[in-house]
Amino acid sequence: PSSKLPDFGASIFSVMSGLANEYKAINLSQGFPDFNCPESLMQLVTKYMHAGFNQYAPMAGMPQLREKISLKTERMYGYRPNPDTEVTVTTGATEALNAAITAMVKPGDEVVILEPSYDSYVPVIRLCGGSPIYVPLALPDFHVDWGLVKRRLSSRTRLIIINTPHNPTGAVMTKEDMDRLANLIDGTDIMVVSDEVYEHMVFDDKQHYSALQQPLLRERSFVISSFGKTYHTTGWKVGYAVAPPPLTNELRKMHQYITFCTATPFQLALADFMEEEAHYLNLPNFYQAKRDLFYDLLRNSRFEASPSSGTYFQLVKYDKVSDAYDLDFARHLTKEVGVAAIPVSAFYHDKTDHKYLRFCFAKSEDTLRAAGEKLAVL
Ligand code: PMP
Ligand code: GLN
Repeated sequence: PSSKLPDFGASIFSVMSGLANEYKAINLSQGFPDFNCPESLMQLVTKYMHAGFNQYAPMAGMPQLREKISLKTERMYGYRPNPDTEVTVTTGATEALNAAITAMVKPGDEVVILEPSYDSYVPVIRLCGGSPIYVPLALPDFHVDWGLVKRRLSSRTRLIIINTPHNPTGAVMTKEDMDRLANLIDGTDIMVVSDEVYEHMVFDDKQHYSALQQPLLRERSFVISSFGKTYHTTGWKVGYAVAPPPLTNELRKMHQYITFCTATPFQLALADFMEEEAHYLNLPNFYQAKRDLFYDLLRNSRFEASPSSGTYFQLVKYDKVSDAYDLDFARHLTKEVGVAAIPVSAFYHDKTDHKYLRFCFAKSEDTLRAAGEKLAVL
């Protein structure tokens, strides 16, 4: 049969993690922690399993969890979404993204994508018959050129997808960015998907500014987050979307037929654990220490970087070390040096190579030091 996604193969995350395993390299490629989630969180999961909570959850998510998400949203962003009509628990942020895009995009619609871009948006747009409109983030700091975005809008623009803090660059949008975006879509019927899965990982004097804090954007956006990132549980695949009632209504129609609902004991455990607000309030410090360590280790090498502002990724320029294409260099680094990273060309539709690799620093100090030693000899 003919493929519906002929241009897409295995994702770069599968490819590089596979290669890292094959060559027993230190895996700083795919983004996931190499340390465990909190012990008490695991105990809550087994507690709920043994108490018999092993059947379907309500389609929109366990009410306890939606309530906690609503309270946390108010605490962080000063807006309390209605848990019944504005909060939906999904099977990872990936499912929320799929449901939001599928709910919005019709054949012929255009969707603005800022590149480099996370890989799960475009295939869904294509499957809906939509066209991605690529707008590059401006080098060297990967900020959004809103004038450029404006010039790429048309009567067919249906959606703009943003991601802050940004994977892979670590860039963080400001209040001014959100105001510019709101101005752009004011008076149009363009909607926004705001991928904020790294909302609790912002460093130095920076702050995460959510689309939920911008009054106009709040009325037009699907704001998506992931418990995988915040609670070191990427393998549980629990995420959520906050959106105004009409958008939530459409998103849930999709969610209902993609997965219907998300694993019950994980939802209950996370709802209880969310009471420990210190966990997510400490996350910036927790990850900043790892970023600082990795950044300091890089200073012993010929790799160049400016410290990541957010996410658990550090972008690194390698042109002083090699002039190879980034995918080739990433393969070489994995096989011959023993450290795996993600080539950033994978985040551009035309696979443009700006000589950057992305390293994940969600790793133990020992792992980061061992990787730093290997990189320092290059
Ligand atoms: N968006 C971005 C920007 C991500 O980095 C990730 C995690 N890889 C996701 C979405 C997906 O999150 P989840 O694992 O919860 O599906
Ligand atoms: N979000 C993770 C990353 O950027 C990977 C998730 C996945 O493997 N699909 O590395």
